Amino acid sequence: MRHLLIILLISISFNPIGSFAYDWMPIEWMNDPDMSDSVRIVRLDHQVLVELRSLADRLNIDWQCTKTGERIRLDLPVRSLIFTAGSPFVLADKELRQMPLPVERQGRDVLAPVEPLIAVLAEFYPGELLFDPSLPQLLVSPPRHDLFGVRYDVEPGCTRVIIPAGRLLECKAEPLPDGGVTLFFPGGKIDTASFNREWVVDLIAGLMAEQTPEGASITLKPDSGAMFCDVEKITDPPLYCVEFTGSGGMGLDREAQKRLDAEKDAWALDVVVIDPGHGGKDPGAIGPTGLYEKDVVLDVGLRLKKTLEQEGIRTVMTRDRDIFIPLSKRTQIANNSGGKLFISLHCNAIQHGRAYGVETYFLAPAKTERAMKVALLENSVIKFEESQDQYQDLTEENYILLTMAQASFARESEQLAGMVVEDISAGLSLKDRGVDQAGFYVLIGASMPSVLVEMAFISTKSEEKKLRSKEFRQQLADQICAAVLKFLQQMK
Ligand SMILES: [Zn+2]
Repeated sequence: MRHLLIILLISISFNPIGSFAYDWMPIEWMNDPDMSDSVRIVRLDHQVLVELRSLADRLNIDWQCTKTGERIRLDLPVRSLIFTAGSPFVLADKELRQMPLPVERQGRDVLAPVEPLIAVLAEFYPGELLFDPSLPQLLVSPPRHDLFGVRYDVEPGCTRVIIPAGRLLECKAEPLPDGGVTLFFPGGKIDTASFNREWVVDLIAGLMAEQTPEGASITLKPDSGAMFCDVEKITDPPLYCVEFTGSGGMGLDREAQKRLDAEKDAWALDVVVIDPGHGGKDPGAIGPTGLYEKDVVLDVGLRLKKTLEQEGIRTVMTRDRDIFIPLSKRTQIANNSGGKLFISLHCNAIQHGRAYGVETYFLAPAKTERAMKVALLENSVIKFEESQDQYQDLTEENYILLTMAQASFARESEQLAGMVVEDISAGLSLKDRGVDQAGFYVLIGASMPSVLVEMAFISTKSEEKKLRSKEFRQQLADQICAAVLKFLQQMK
């Protein structure tokens, strides 16, 4: 499988533009011939590629695109699908799908392999998508069900279960003694298979969908302490929003909730998560004259926070004092705070001899032995953690699974890593050791561009001396801040 993929990738990247063949693929709407249309496709060797946004338009799927065109979000009723140029992974809210080929930008087009793309869309599309690869042709048939899935909107103390519908249905809510609720839709048709495979979220312990001759029913079971509070019916497009509140019933009134939502949105825009490595019982590397890595990175982290905040950027710290935080908790903090960037701060060390300079890492399998050694050293912190079971060995196989979520940010992480290393080495006259990739536990699980900065070698006496100085630490913070500003500017 892997070989095949590599061959396909090579054949795409070396193909001269001249061998692209353009063609049109008909899209037939079975119940509405007026909607029928066609979309341009590109034939490349044995692959048929389609322009992602054009196909979305023909299928009436709303989409949004970042200014750079790197990332495209398709909003289907029950999921948002995020495609990233250069990545074969599709993020479907919390799930991932993989296509055999990455989505690629070609000039103004964003091309995706048509058959795997339609397979991903079909899973969440309200109607049926029937693809005939031999022609090729796409048949769109209307949904066979009125209710085809749910999505969740989870906030602290409040979970909304959002149920889109293909047509307006009557909805009767019957609260249950356990705090749950049964919704009954007379005459409704429900896709029970798609409902019953739904995952469980905060405040909701279970969901059960049933089709009876009288109609469709959905029963929502609450977690202990949670309670059904309200069902809101929206008519255009038809949607039922079922709200559960957490224990104590301290549900905020709607106005307060709205204000909080607005604040959260604004807050989510530019949050940089600063992660000073190590801490507490884990000192990190120790310099020849006894300087602790954990102390240096905390001080630089606090300075970075201050510097970024002076630039109007919100920050969150995984630790702001000398305490031990498990690695997995660090990315959890990052994700829960709605961070946009994750920066883990470290000082480099080697066991024998001397080495100099700054280097940065992003998450990907280690390519060199040196990168592997740095990762091993930083990962060794898990020996301080109580439950070590959750960290599997970073063998290549585990690694692939673990990094899937990060994969959609790899390109940006690499860019950010490049900017940070350049700015630090130029601003502080440190040797530029470049950007490398390795498997760091601390970067796994962060759903945002993430880098790990090895600021200088604490194990080398002359660099340990620099790391002791306040001016040097402030300059480090200033240079990282400059790189972050540059990066955020570019992302806009
Ligand atoms: Zn470290």
